Amino acid sequence: MVPTLIAHAGAAADPDNRDAYRVSLRAALAAGWVRLRGGGSSLDAVQATIEALEDDPLLNAGRGSALTEVGTVECDASIMEGEHLAAGAVGAVSGVPNPIRLARRVMEDGRQVLLVGDGAIAFARQHGVPLCEPGELVTARQRARLAERLAGEPGPGSARRHAGAAAGPGGGTVGAVAIDGRGLVTAGTSTGGAVGKRSGRVGDSALVGCGTYADNRLGGVSTTGHGEAFIRTVLAKTALDILLDLDDPELACQVALDVVREDGRGDGGLVLLDWRGRLGWAHSTPFMPVGWCLPGAPEPILAF
Ligand code: ASP
Repeated sequence: MVPTLIAHAGAAADPDNRDAYRVSLRAALAAGWVRLRGGGSSLDAVQATIEALEDDPLLNAGRGSALTEVGTVECDASIMEGEHLAAGAVGAVSGVPNPIRLARRVMEDGRQVLLVGDGAIAFARQHGVPLCEPGELVTARQRARLAERLAGEPGPGSARRHAGAAAGPGGGTVGAVAIDGRGLVTAGTSTGGAVGKRSGRVGDSALVGCGTYADNRLGGVSTTGHGEAFIRTVLAKTALDILLDLDDPELACQVALDVVREDGRGDGGLVLLDWRGRLGWAHSTPFMPVGWCLPGAPEPILAF
């Protein structure tokens, strides 16, 4: 099997930061690719790519995450491999610089798939996953975004507030999908979620089938966008089911987003890598940074 890696930096990314996204995505893809190219597993490649993106404060994952309505960082992340359908995920975790690493540890532990909040932090302590002071993950950029969001928020009782529209895109959710030399497909996603979300809200990025899915017989997907819409439409798995019908990764992504628009009432984007190593991506938002690595290409290829 020809190793391949694709990554995204969020369907709510800010086009004014295009150059910074290029630097960040290129470095993250290189960190993952060095593992795949050296014969490493797609699990290691996806984790390395996402960790590099989580470490960049420009992006809405790890440090630099979008803030809850009370100004805290609560991250969601998930990772899945497509041979045994093994998966690990964490939701609403505070003080975790690399939530994808914690999600992988949950997967390897194997007892459960999804841990949230304080229980996930206790698990991190037991398993030696690095933690930090929660405030260290808060950036001035996201403080300003929250202030803007709260200033424009509809008051109590308004229809928009009840529809959940008060939480807005956090920009720069991150995700990656890879296939390695022995055909193992891995997908992963990490985010701080929506700006101004309620404390305790868990979005699609923590949910297998919604934000992340991998199955060696089909491929892998990482999504980004309106989490509640993606939960309603089980977007990552839906995209792979559509791929089974259409046998066209690009078209499968586009049709999946049509489903999200019509049935889920939301927008966003996704990247897909099928079991043969064919790439697809699509977004219904104005800008989503995407890049990939293929054998024979000396540098990561960026599509923006
Ligand atoms: N899907 C993420 C969430 O709803 C946000 C994003 O991708 O921008 O938590």
